[in-house]
Amino acid sequence: TGIYHSLVNLGTKHEIPTKPDINTASLVLSQFPQGDIADARIAFIDLSTNQSISYGEVRRSVYSLASALFHGLEVRKGDVVFLLSPNSILYSTICIAVLSVGAILTTANPLNTKSEIAKQVHDSGAKLAISAPEELHKLIPTGVPTILTSSPSDGKFLSVEELIQGCYDSIHLPHVPVMQSDTAAVLYSSGTTGVSKGVVLTHSNLITIMKLLCWSADVSASQDDVFLAFIPMFHIYGLMFFGLGLLCVGVTTVLMQKYDFHAMLVAIKKHKVNNIPAVPPVIHALVKHAKKEGYDLSSLRRVGSGAAPLSKEMTQEFRKMFPWIQLRPGYGLTESCGGATYFGSDIDAKAHPEACGKLIPTFCAKVIDIETGKPLPPHKEGELWLKSGTIMKEYLGNVEATNATIDSEGWLRTGDLGYIDENGFVYIVERIKELIKHKGYQVAPAELESVLLSHPLIVDAAVIPVEDEETGQIPMAYVVRAAGSELSEDQVIQFVAGQVAPYKKVRRVSFIDNIPRSAAGKILRKDLVSQSKYQLVSK
Ligand code: AMP
Repeated sequence: TGIYHSLVNLGTKHEIPTKPDINTASLVLSQFPQGDIADARIAFIDLSTNQSISYGEVRRSVYSLASALFHGLEVRKGDVVFLLSPNSILYSTICIAVLSVGAILTTANPLNTKSEIAKQVHDSGAKLAISAPEELHKLIPTGVPTILTSSPSDGKFLSVEELIQGCYDSIHLPHVPVMQSDTAAVLYSSGTTGVSKGVVLTHSNLITIMKLLCWSADVSASQDDVFLAFIPMFHIYGLMFFGLGLLCVGVTTVLMQKYDFHAMLVAIKKHKVNNIPAVPPVIHALVKHAKKEGYDLSSLRRVGSGAAPLSKEMTQEFRKMFPWIQLRPGYGLTESCGGATYFGSDIDAKAHPEACGKLIPTFCAKVIDIETGKPLPPHKEGELWLKSGTIMKEYLGNVEATNATIDSEGWLRTGDLGYIDENGFVYIVERIKELIKHKGYQVAPAELESVLLSHPLIVDAAVIPVEDEETGQIPMAYVVRAAGSELSEDQVIQFVAGQVAPYKKVRRVSFIDNIPRSAAGKILRKDLVSQSKYQLVSK
């Protein structure tokens, strides 16, 4: 039939809850290994401040924040709450509290600019924002009512900390009936084409992915584990693991507000970290620099790699240098709730250095021939299509993009080229969608192209990825200048840098007479990618 099914058996112990009326938040709280507010085991430690929060405190904080949101701020089922903060010990509490009152969580990268934030506030229809104090200035112009994560110095804005300490109910959650089919979160991704869109994830999507990835014995985390989190919780990868799922296992997570290689090495040693969900640039840095830094990685047992491709060479070098660490690549996308493949603990990942693991339980896949649209047999490369209970419901308010991405039978087109072997291992070969990934972060070419086109001396522009060993990919712009203009590469770079988040900057520019387009006007990106490869080699 051309359909590949997950060959991993979930086992009856790990069945996904099927009752229609389950709220992700109450389910997470019910899974905490000990069910009371006196539970003193540490849930999160902030590496920079050394502040920590216990499981009991998370539970009590969720109860009082949820009550404050519901009774005090009148946040109701279906209201969208915008969270703008780096990783913090309260991030998870905020997410669970928002979900518990049936509200919809939307998160953003705190590096994003004022106008990027304004766009998302508007697109998501946010009713309330919760912001780290240092990001507040980006929300004020939007006019959306905002509370701060921690107490401000001048007392002008309410804060989550104050609400938690306030006189709200700290032993019950407000009673808000929620169905698994209700929307829980709207995270942003550009998908296969165009600008960032709201990925609508339901409670059922979140519950299913948590169950599959975090509670499943295959991932084998336990209460004694110490995780390190520099993966941001605004991204599905961090939200699903650290924000929600791993709390159900009872691990301790050491949080970093932002990734820093040296601080990571210090944290591993100081907190005896044994598990790091990471991204390829981090694996790369460990291989290249850890020795020089006099590292002590003896506590590490497992390192994951996701969000972008990890080369076979890097995988093998890592395994040679750190033979006691299991390196376990996985693959997923925001539209599939972050996960689609993994290496369960019973699989010898070393024997399959180019694979991203197998389909996680309940997933089905097809590999579709790009020319004929027909499903392909094992080992043949094509676009990977996925189906599972974790696939997003839709792109928010964008029927056209939804229909172009999910077909009538529920198959999600990933925009990734890959193949599956006869044993069910999944290989991702190339990204065929427009998306650029810099350090694991999404950069949408369409967004940069519209910034470039707003320059009075730019007539046409196209942005493509250029492979980069350290960061994965960097955005490169092909620019058609207005006749007679002497616009320089540096001026173009500065112009874009002034308007986008730092990770989206155009880092290379080439001037060209015209942008190659198809008869229908679509940019022929492949031609530009080939041209850039030729240009870079002949430089
Ligand atoms: P995001 O929605 O930000 O998680 O980005 C999803 C995209 O990241 C996927 O569609 C892939 O293009 C890429 N990606 C994620 N994991 C991997 C991986 N292990 N290997 C190759 N590409 C990956």
